[in-house]
Amino acid sequence: MDHIRSRRAVAPLRRNTAGQQWPNVESLLRSTRPEEPLYCLRPHAVTEAAQRFHAAFPGDVLYAVKCNAEPAMLRAVAAGGVTHFDCASEAEIRLLRSMFPKAALHFMHPVKSRGAIRAAWHDFGVRDFVLDTAEELRKIRTETGGGDLGLVVRLALPKGKAAYDLSGKFGAEPAIAAALLRAARPHAARLGVSFHVGSQCLEPEAWTHAIQLAQSVIAASGVAVDILDVGGGFPVAYPGSLPPPLSAFMAAITDAAAVLRPGTRLWAEPGRALVASGASVVVQVQQRRGNALYVNDGVYGALSDAGAPGFRFPHRLVPSNGRQPSARAEDFILFGPTCDSADVMKGPWTLPGDVCEGDWIEIGQLGAYGTALRTAFNGFDRAFVAEVADAPLLMNPQYSLTAARAA
Ligand SMILES: *Cc1c(COP(=O)(O)O)cnc(C)c1O
Repeated sequence: MDHIRSRRAVAPLRRNTAGQQWPNVESLLRSTRPEEPLYCLRPHAVTEAAQRFHAAFPGDVLYAVKCNAEPAMLRAVAAGGVTHFDCASEAEIRLLRSMFPKAALHFMHPVKSRGAIRAAWHDFGVRDFVLDTAEELRKIRTETGGGDLGLVVRLALPKGKAAYDLSGKFGAEPAIAAALLRAARPHAARLGVSFHVGSQCLEPEAWTHAIQLAQSVIAASGVAVDILDVGGGFPVAYPGSLPPPLSAFMAAITDAAAVLRPGTRLWAEPGRALVASGASVVVQVQQRRGNALYVNDGVYGALSDAGAPGFRFPHRLVPSNGRQPSARAEDFILFGPTCDSADVMKGPWTLPGDVCEGDWIEIGQLGAYGTALRTAFNGFDRAFVAEVADAPLLMNPQYSLTAARAA
């Protein structure tokens, strides 16, 4: 296959500020006056969120790499004490192994290519693999060596109330999951059950119900299970949506997990909760038409969740000419730079009424599934990246260790 070239769809993010950290977004804008989208990374916020999650969760924390695989973010997650990573592709595994020779990497995609399984096992030292069918179990057994193999059976959950339902694609129904546990047990140095309640899940009870279901599957299987992986889905704050405190989720998990066999190891796979506050994007207004603003990043860039899914994000105006912005606020809609009419972000985006061409808008909480989802569509694949030391536009107040345990 040497004659077949592979090509990355998205150009690497351009750095114009290598190694430098700016005290805040205003000083960065004043000195660089970017005419392309500017991704502002706040590794300190990621490290803090990772530390808090790691301290609160009674088990191993696996960061879900797909959420944001920017090396600065990965280093920030690791600086928060996270030494396990949930990877879903060979490329993620390769990147993580090159950065963290000693980290525990887990291959948590239920459908893997044989080549990726082989590379993970033989080249990158991955020992834990997820599966939700007997076919995948056979594949994993054939392509790995014996010995220290960890097998995790992904359980399907009924559709819940999370903002992003993840029940439709992966997971074994309870009876099949029980049979898979029985089939996997003789080959597993470690046997686990995993699930995902859906992303941005605001209800601690979702974990209660999922753990109860997992426990009934374990009981039906009749075999001992070593690991319960409670997945990701832990929510963060967005405008108009303040989740319960992290402690309420941890309490729900701890209470429900009390019925498990003593010694069962808990795993969690948070993505959004660790990195959402770690990046914002600064867009520039290229044209104003009434209360529509044409800006230089959109749903094919870092803002896909602001398009059809209709997520709202914290935002603020930074005037380009140093003026004091008008105190009168108005609601705007934003259009992204591509020629697709789906490249629209209805918001509403509340901004000073005198916003005009050249002004910048900083949009926060884009560290999760923002920069990671950008495409090169229509040639709009360039962006600047810089690290800033100021506080994110919206902190995650629920990620407080001391917040009262919810009733
Ligand atoms: C995407 C994903 C996660 C992370 O989910 P968040 O909602 O971002 O916490 C964890 N585990 C699996 C298997 C996933 O696919």
